[in-house]
Amino acid sequence: MRIHDREFVKTIPNEEINEGIRRVAEQINKDYAGRCPLLLGVLNGAFMFAAELMRNLEIECEISFVKFSSYNGTDSTGNVREVIGLTEQITGRDIIIIEDIVDTGLTMQKMITSLSAKNPASVAIASLFVKPARLQAPVEVKYSVFTIPDRFIVGYGLDYDGLGRNLPDVYDVVE
Ligand code: 5GP
Repeated sequence: MRIHDREFVKTIPNEEINEGIRRVAEQINKDYAGRCPLLLGVLNGAFMFAAELMRNLEIECEISFVKFSSYNGTDSTGNVREVIGLTEQITGRDIIIIEDIVDTGLTMQKMITSLSAKNPASVAIASLFVKPARLQAPVEVKYSVFTIPDRFIVGYGLDYDGLGRNLPDVYDVVE
């Protein structure tokens, strides 16, 4: 499959992704029983994961979205910029950040720092993908659905220069 100038090959089918998300949702249902966490989805990439995860939560919960940008094409710029800030009251709340993929971890590190200043009761990260080989910041991803090698992926909300977010399955770039 081709997007812009690159070739991609399917690696994780939709059923497997949704099954993985259900497993994580079950864990969150247990861990947050009797609480009402605020899910904070990171736009744009996490919208599909956030929807599927929330659909599988049986506990009381709320959702809101924030937006960062750190990526141009297939390589990190190293600059993590906040695009849309947080407006919700988060003091005293249990926050679960919903991220598409933790790569260097710099985006999540920045988000945790800015959230912590507002004194939430707790902050946990749920990420659909984690690339451990790329991690540069000491962030703990409590709920990770897939651990993947250092390869650029698209689909299920993740894009390559704007395209590919609509793909139900996940694809690896062909080097
Ligand atoms: P970090 O700050 O952890 O380096 O960057 C995380 C962000 O980089 C993700 O939210 C995502 O937008 C982007 N990113 C990192 N790896 C990939 C990848 O393999 N594919 C896509 N489409 N985006 C990625």
